[in-house]
Amino acid sequence: MEFTYDDQNIFAKILRGEIPNKTVYEDDHALAFEDISPQAPVHVLVIPKGPYVSLDHFAAEASAEEQTGFFRAVAEVCRIAGVEGGFRAIANTRDDGMQEVPHFHLHILGGRRMGPLVVQS
Ligand code: AMP
Repeated sequence: MEFTYDDQNIFAKILRGEIPNKTVYEDDHALAFEDISPQAPVHVLVIPKGPYVSLDHFAAEASAEEQTGFFRAVAEVCRIAGVEGGFRAIANTRDDGMQEVPHFHLHILGGRRMGPLVVQS
């Protein structure tokens, strides 16, 4: 599959500092910030700094260093967020996954019981 990245997406603008965000954690590989429309007491988005549209794009084409750095950042976010009781990580992907923003992001949701995995529409 061929992946095409649109650098005008809102998370690219956040990474360039053109749009503000409530940063939870940042390092060379990743930025984590609070979701603007939280669905749980903890709702943080973790994004890689590289131009990847989706989880499968990131998994297929990011370097080992980018992938390790990203998941280390996820671990740091979980530590900072204090989700020892558990959490849910979601990567909505393309149309069927109802992805809105075409820059790979992992939702980290916690602070309450999350309910069934998939809510029927
Ligand atoms: P998804 O459907 O997985 O692409 O979700 C995109 C998420 O980004 C949604 O949960 C939005 O609430 C969130 N979002 C959109 N714009 C912003 C923003 N400027 N700052 C923080 N979160 C945002």
